[in-house]
Amino acid sequence: MGRVAAFWENTAQTPLQIVEDPFFIERGIKLYLKRDDLIHPQVSGNKWRKLKYNLFEAEKQGIKTLMTFGGAYSNHIAAVAAAGQATGFDTIGMIRGEELRADTNPTLRFASQCGMKLLFVSRKDYRNKEELAERHGAGCYIIPEGGSNTLAVKGVAEVVTEIQSQLRTPVDYLCTSLGTGGTAAGLLSASKAKVLVFPSLKIKVDEAKQMIFQHLSMSEAKAEIITDYHFGGYGKVTEELWQFIKTFEIQTHIPLEQVYTGKMMFGIYDLVKKGFFKRGQVIIAFHTGGLQGRAVF
Ligand SMILES: *Cc1c(COP(=O)(O)O)cnc(C)c1O
Repeated sequence: MGRVAAFWENTAQTPLQIVEDPFFIERGIKLYLKRDDLIHPQVSGNKWRKLKYNLFEAEKQGIKTLMTFGGAYSNHIAAVAAAGQATGFDTIGMIRGEELRADTNPTLRFASQCGMKLLFVSRKDYRNKEELAERHGAGCYIIPEGGSNTLAVKGVAEVVTEIQSQLRTPVDYLCTSLGTGGTAAGLLSASKAKVLVFPSLKIKVDEAKQMIFQHLSMSEAKAEIITDYHFGGYGKVTEELWQFIKTFEIQTHIPLEQVYTGKMMFGIYDLVKKGFFKRGQVIIAFHTGGLQGRAVF
C-alpha cells in the first residue's frame, strides 16, 4: 500500500451525533451533527475529505511536491502541511501578506513545523495565482486555495454516503458552511436532501452559487444559500457570536470555532426560532472541523 492509501484508508467513520438541546426537542426538530472535526487530529474535517483524492492523484502522477495557497489563518494551509508530512510529500504554501513570517501565528508556525516551505507574497501578487504557480510551482502538484476542485468534490461526496449508512430515516436538510464552495458542491453532488449553505463571508446568493456550481453539472434546485450569518465578513466575530458559541459548547459538549461552524450553527438556531423548519423535520449539520483555528476567549 502506498503512503497516501495508508493514511486515508485507516480512518474510521466519524460519528453522527444528535444534538441534545431542549431547544430542538420542544420544537419537535431533530438536529444531528456529522462530526468530521473528529476525523484526524491535524487534518480535520472537510480538508481531510477534500485532500484525499488530490493526494492519490499526486502520488499516481509521481509528483513529490504539493503547492497550495492561503491566508495567514488558513485551515487548508495547516491541513496540507500536515497531510503532506504524513504521506511523504514536500509542501509549499504561498501565503497572502508579505509582512507575515513563519512565526507570526499558530497556524503558520504549525505549517512551518510540518516542514512546509512558506513563501509570503503581496496581496497584489496573490490575486494572480496562476502566475505564482507558474513562477514557483514547476513540477509541483497544484492544489487551489481552500482545496476546492473536482477531486475535492468527490471526496466530500463520501460524507453523504456515510451519513446514509448511519441514519436510515429520510433527511430534510443538510447544512454546511461555505468558504470557497467545494464542500457545498460535494454535498450537493450526492445528497437527496436539500442543502442549506451558510457563507462565512459577505457575499450575494449569485456569487455563492457561482463558487459552488463551477464544480458541478447539475441544476441549482437543491441548494439554498443563506447569506444572513456572515457577522460582518470573513473572519469577523461579534460578541453575540462568541456568546452563542460558548453557550452551545456548555450545553452540548461539542466544540465549534468562530470562522465557519459557529456561524452556521448560529444560523440554524436562528432559522429554527423564525419557524423556517417544520415540526418532525430532520436536519444534519456538517461539522467541518477547523478547531485548530479556534480562538481562545
Ligand atoms: C475550509 C473550511 C470551510 C469552507 O469549506 P469550502 O469548501 O472552502 O467552502 C468550512 N469549515 C471549515 C472548518 C473549514 O476549515
